[in-house]
Formats: sequence, C-alpha cells, structure tokens
Amino acid sequence: MNYFPVFFDLTGQKVLIVGGGEVALRKVSLLERTGALITVVAPEVAPELVARAAARQLTLNRREFAPEDLDGMRLVIVATSRRAVNRWIATLSESRNIPVNVVDDREASRFIVPAIIDREPVLVAVSTGGTSPVLARRLREKLEAFIPTRIGELASWLRALRGSTRKKLRDSDERRRFFEAVVDGPAARRFIEGDSQGAQRIAQQLLATTSAAPRATGEVTLVGAGPGDPELLTIKALRALQDADVILYDRLVPAEVLDLARRDAAQICVGKAAGNIGSTQHEINALLIEHATQGKRVVRLKGGDPFIFGRGGEELQALAAAQINFSVVPGITAAIGGAAYAGIPLTHRDYAQSVTFVTGHNQDEGTEPDWRTLVVPGTTTVFYMGLARLDRIVEKLLEHGAPATRPAGIIAQGTMAGQRVITATLATIRGVASDAKLNSPALLVVGDVVALHSTLAWFGVNAEIGLSQTA
Ligand code: SAH
Repeated sequence: MNYFPVFFDLTGQKVLIVGGGEVALRKVSLLERTGALITVVAPEVAPELVARAAARQLTLNRREFAPEDLDGMRLVIVATSRRAVNRWIATLSESRNIPVNVVDDREASRFIVPAIIDREPVLVAVSTGGTSPVLARRLREKLEAFIPTRIGELASWLRALRGSTRKKLRDSDERRRFFEAVVDGPAARRFIEGDSQGAQRIAQQLLATTSAAPRATGEVTLVGAGPGDPELLTIKALRALQDADVILYDRLVPAEVLDLARRDAAQICVGKAAGNIGSTQHEINALLIEHATQGKRVVRLKGGDPFIFGRGGEELQALAAAQINFSVVPGITAAIGGAAYAGIPLTHRDYAQSVTFVTGHNQDEGTEPDWRTLVVPGTTTVFYMGLARLDRIVEKLLEHGAPATRPAGIIAQGTMAGQRVITATLATIRGVASDAKLNSPALLVVGDVVALHSTLAWFGVNAEIGLSQTA
C-alpha cells in the first residue's frame, strides 16, 4: 500500500492554503465543509475568496507566504503557480512535521487528496495513488451511480435506531444480527426508496422478533411488467427485478422483460394466461409465502398493472394473512399502453368523458358488468380478456341500446412488435375480427374515440386503417 488512508477530523483545526487562484478556491470549498479554520495566503486572490474572507469564512493574508505562516497549522495545501515556491514551502512544512499537499505534485506531497463522494455522513474516497486523477474520477462516477442517493440519510437513520435497540437487545450478537437484517433486507431498501415510515415499521417488527426467535425477513414485491414493450417498465420495476432472488411470473410477461432480471435470480413461471390453468392461485400464494419465509427477495411479476385484473389484491391478502412484508410497483395496464400505441385516446373532450375497464371473462361466474352504464353515450369501454367472448359482448351492448354504428376496435398484442389494430363498428366488428385472425392477448375498445385511430395511429406498419368505412 503506497498510502495510508485516513479520515481526518478537522473541526476547529487550523489549515493553511498557499495560493489564491481557482485551485485554491476549490480546496477552500471542500475544506469549509469540515469546519476547519482556514487561512489563505497569496498576494493575488480570486474575488470569491475575498468575498468569503469578508463573510468571515476564512482568514485572508494578501501577501507572499512567510515561514511563520506555518505556525500552529495542522495541514498545509500549496497551490501557487510557481513550482519552486511550492517545493520550498513543502520542504519547510516537512521539516516541521506538518502534513503537506502540493497540488499536482505528488512527489513534493506528504498526503494526497482522494476523489470523493460526499453523502453526509457517508463518505467514499477513491485514490489511484496519484497515478491518474482521471481514472480516479471515472471510478468515482461509477460508484456514484451505484451508491443510492439516500445512503447518507440511511446512515443517520441507522444511528438513530441504535439508541432504541440498546435497551431492547442487550447482547451485541443480537444487535449485529438485527442490523444485518435491517441493512440487507426490506427495511433499508424501503428507506432508500423514500418510504421512511415503512422502513421504520419493518425495523420495529424485526426488533420485536430478533430478541425472541430471529427469523429471516423476506419480502414480496408485486411488480407490474407493463403491456409488452419492455421499455415501458418503470425504474422501480427494473430495480426490483435486479434485486430479486426469486421471480414468479405470469405467461403474459414478455421474455425481454425477464432478460432484465438479475442473472442468478430463480425464475419460476406460474403461467396464468387466459384459458390456461397453470398453477392455481392457491399454489401461487403458497409459493410466494414459502420463498419469502426463507428470507428471499421475491418479485411477483405480472403483465400490465398488478391491480387491474391481475389478482394482485388476492395475493397481497394472502401475504398479509401470513404476515409477510410486501410492496407494490404499478405498471402500465394493457388498456393504457395499448390505446396509446394504437392512437386511441381513451378520453377526449369531444367524444368521451369517462372510461371503464371491464373484464369479458367473469360471466360464467355470474358477475355480469352493468351493461346499461356501458352503453351511455360519451363513454369508452375497454374489455380485457374479451376476444373469446366477442359475440356475447357485442350482443349484450346492442341489446342494452348501444347504436350499431358505435365504433369498436380490437388491439391485439398492444405495444409489442406484433401489434395489430382493427377498427369497425358494433355491427361489423365480429366479421372484421374473424377475418383478421388476431392473436391474443387482445383488448376490445368500444366508443366514439375508436374512430380517431384512423388519424392518430402511429405505431407499427400493420395498422389496418379504414376498415370502419366498410361498415
Ligand atoms: N394486469 C393486466 C391484465 C391481465 S388480464 C394489465 O393490467 O394489463 C389479461 C388480459 O389483458 C388479456 O386477455 C388482454 O385482454 C389484456 N392484455 C394484456 N396485455 C395485452 C396487450 N399487450 N395487448 C392487448 N391486450 C392485452
């Protein structure tokens, strides 16, 4: 090791800076944050430094350096433009055992100043031993991107937690276990994401269990994968995927999204596509609980948004009953994503004042939508899982008084490379759809806004514009 790294407490300590230019100013700005008592000596001084002296942030001696300036100094930084002068001051400092740094002159320096990331109270220092400041800066940038912005606040919170654990956890082993669980687990993750209250709650739970029987604390994050285009993932979804130990995903989730997950995360398909049984809901709940209880970070990945026809609510209820921590990352639901990519605004001042998302699937189970509200003029209705039930849906709408001329469209594989959009009217949509031989997943959209597709379509070359004119 060519240098011994230390963090030097300079509060109230005298530091001398020789030189009054830009470089000196940068050093002053850095040192100010430490609470050091700064003296600057230089015959010519940048206006910024004069201003700071006037504000009593530092002592300014506008003259040439004199050896007495070193009296009582803890640290010296030399930044004049004259190399010989710099070296002379360095030698003088050395002879008096005062650590000295000569800017850009490693050989003349007793200490060098690292590149830093300052996230009070967390401080990361990087040094290449003076070999390459550029390399040090690049390294710092990489670390910068990797270290969460709130790491400093996290550190302060952990310090505050220490107080409350002292009373509860007397044994230092117990305390260490507790803090490991906080730092490695959902508590710290929540905190870093900005949910301090959630973090506090989880830490309290941990505190309650650590002293009794230490239990691994996993958690489940319910993540919306969006409608298909992987770039429609949220940044939070991406982070959850990259932090996951286990991912349980539905068949609707595109492979490109799974490719973004952490390489060594276990990926389990619990394959629920419409009309395909896959694992039962009960089995899925059991899997979620099992993995989380083992202390794993579990991501439950669903197409679109987890709370829109995604059974997200049911799964969370099961987790709540099993006392497992969970959080939810929303996703762009198929109707929002598909409509955007099809150029069908779901509301429009001239055509639609409300929009309803309905499932076309539940009729077997006896829960019918309220057809009367869906045929009201000025509404847009989006049917999920509606393709297989297209005949029945159209019949019901007509039966409840929807005009046969009302525009209706189908968005198949919305937002994906294979997206296809067909538009027609309630009278013609069945024929047009069966001719088009669309692939699932698909949405049925009913309402005047569908007609806008002919002018607003922008995505994909296969958009079949103008079919409504065949009505
Ligand atoms: N939670 C999902 C919906 C799950 S239900 C969401 O918020 O989007 C499954 C139904 O969603 C499918 O039958 C289909 O109607 C619709 N769907 C999902 N992805 C789709 C896509 N890319 N294009 C069109 N419809 C889609």
